[in-house]
Amino acid sequence: MTPVIALVGRPNVGKSTLFNQMTRSRDALVADFPGLTRDRKYGDGNYEGRRFIVIDTGGLTGDEVGLDAEMARQSTQAVDEADIVLFLVDGRAGLTAGDEMVAEHLRRTGKPAHLVVNKTDGQDPDVAAADFYSLGFESVYQIAAAHNRGIRSMLELLLEEVEEENEDSADKYPGIRIGVVGRPNVGKSTLVNRMLGEERVVVYDMPGTTRDSVYIPYERQGHEYTLIDTAGVRRRKNVHEVVEKFSIIKTLKAIEDAHVVILVIDARDGLVDQDLHLIGFVLDAGRSLVIAVNKWDGMDPEERSKVKEQVRRRLDFLDYADKHYISALHGSGVGVLYDSIQDCYESAMAKWPTNRLTAILQDAVAQHQPPMVHGRRIKLRFAHQGGSNPPVIVVHGNQTGALPGAYKRYLENTFRKVLKVNGSPIRFEFLSGE
Ligand code: GDP
Ligand code: GDP
Repeated sequence: MTPVIALVGRPNVGKSTLFNQMTRSRDALVADFPGLTRDRKYGDGNYEGRRFIVIDTGGLTGDEVGLDAEMARQSTQAVDEADIVLFLVDGRAGLTAGDEMVAEHLRRTGKPAHLVVNKTDGQDPDVAAADFYSLGFESVYQIAAAHNRGIRSMLELLLEEVEEENEDSADKYPGIRIGVVGRPNVGKSTLVNRMLGEERVVVYDMPGTTRDSVYIPYERQGHEYTLIDTAGVRRRKNVHEVVEKFSIIKTLKAIEDAHVVILVIDARDGLVDQDLHLIGFVLDAGRSLVIAVNKWDGMDPEERSKVKEQVRRRLDFLDYADKHYISALHGSGVGVLYDSIQDCYESAMAKWPTNRLTAILQDAVAQHQPPMVHGRRIKLRFAHQGGSNPPVIVVHGNQTGALPGAYKRYLENTFRKVLKVNGSPIRFEFLSGE
């Protein structure tokens, strides 16, 4: 399961510098998701093949009134939902009252945090760290984020720790992992309840899974699944308990952890920008996707054709993903989701032999030659598979760096058609001998 790392600390200690070092892309993953304070950032990280999610919480100032109060609330939620909390302090400035307030805030959340002393460049790191021992943290890292120093060894230790905890999760969460995601109020909880409430479904009650009741293992017609519930259906232990209606962190984590993502859209609102944002996250993560346009009941024919037309038009880049028009409330169309889920899973996890991929490549090239560059034709020689979920096809040749986008799309379409890859993106890597 993909760990979530939250960065907290007062302003100017170096959180965004560390965030940029930990995430490959410098762009924030969630640029402007309505309802979130603007200065919160989310990124995808990858350390030697191990993926993780980073949140720059924007800062706990300890001074929580007005706008800051909302920011503090969201930071607290981030701390709550994170697997690893990094509390950053400034090794140049030394211990400040602001640090003490943040430390106090963290103590109140009861979540263990690691102390990270930043800006240790140009001074003895141990001397820089000594100032902060009075905060009472057992786990202390010394880094210089701006110089990319100490970050790799810190990640190594942190990820090792969560990996040990994760080791048996494959047994606890068997079968196809289905993430149900969508904006607030589109009907995720209703759909999750409907899927788990089917007569032919047996929900496992496994000991040790309560810590993370977000993952719900079950069986349906002899097949195993694990539903990843971002809507918090199961967490509502009693009617008075207040549960966050929507969590972007849970959503991102569910997408990473899933084999297949069901994106729920509210037919009454049509396709809105937030839906497209979420689709973007799913595709970035390389997950396979099923679109469920919900609340199809009680819509008149005219409205229906309007929504269908809009979905067709705005999602034309997703023509390989199934779209279902369902009513989670009445249960109609819910069963057929499983055909798409099965299809998506098989596509995402498929294994193809090298000679088959090479034959498809050579056929494609014979049908339609790549262009010439500098008087020489681009050569594509053979292909092999480089990974699953998403499937990766590695193409070897010469001058592949000059391959035009249109030709890459032609290859993708050809491989998709021949290999019958449905619902899942395909990633291509082009290697060049010269
Ligand atoms: P944030 O407000 O916590 O996100 O802090 P920033 O990442 O914006 O950093 C605040 C300032 O500290 C910037 O001017 C950074 O260049 C500087 N800074 C960050 N990391 C380091 C470091 O490792 N060493 C030094 N000397 N400066 C740093
Ligand atoms: P969530 O925030 O995405 O989990 O959304 P909920 O499952 O809590 O649903 C939000 C509201 O939409 C509730 O009032 C549901 O009863 C309603 N709803 C959910 N699915 C449907 C549906 O298929 N048809 C109709 N008419 N209403 C629905």
